[in-house]
Amino acid sequence: MAARRRLPRKDPISRKGLRSRFWERIPLKDMTPAEWEALCDGCGKCCLNKLEDADTGEVALTRVACRLLDDDSCRCSQYEIRKQFVPECVVLSPKTLPDTAYWMPVTCAYRLLHEGKPLHDWHPLISGTPESVHAAGVSVRGWTVPEFEVPEEEWEDHIIEEPT
Ligand code: SF4
Ligand code: SF4
Repeated sequence: MAARRRLPRKDPISRKGLRSRFWERIPLKDMTPAEWEALCDGCGKCCLNKLEDADTGEVALTRVACRLLDDDSCRCSQYEIRKQFVPECVVLSPKTLPDTAYWMPVTCAYRLLHEGKPLHDWHPLISGTPESVHAAGVSVRGWTVPEFEVPEEEWEDHIIEEPT
């Protein structure tokens, strides 16, 4: 009898050559490019479409994903050339973060550090494995719907709850 087992995948984000526990002591603006990139936990949630209440400014995430999101790897399928297809995709940087943090997922490492909060134990920088993000149920793996399948007026039916 043969059986297939899902093997742990290689971390697509390089987390080598970083200063020890840099996220606890180096301000975001002083991190190296490699440290900045390593902060991403690879959850893919920032690639979900959001609804913002024009009156209250409240933001809700939906499970309707950007057309370029691969919800198995939780990565952008065309990262290098994504702007050609999705010009509105925001590049996160220490400069853009103050204006964008409020609509990032509450578990996003950039948002957490921007708000002076610690990273969660399941973050790959702490757990040592990218699989901990999926095991903790905070990634988008396997439960999104592509935006070309859902008209915008129906996104409200796909709002998801964020962890508190
Ligand atoms: S939400 Fe934040 S931590 Fe998650 S993939 Fe996007 S940038 Fe990375
Ligand atoms: S273009 Fe790529 S990085 Fe930007 S939101 Fe879409 S899937 Fe995410």
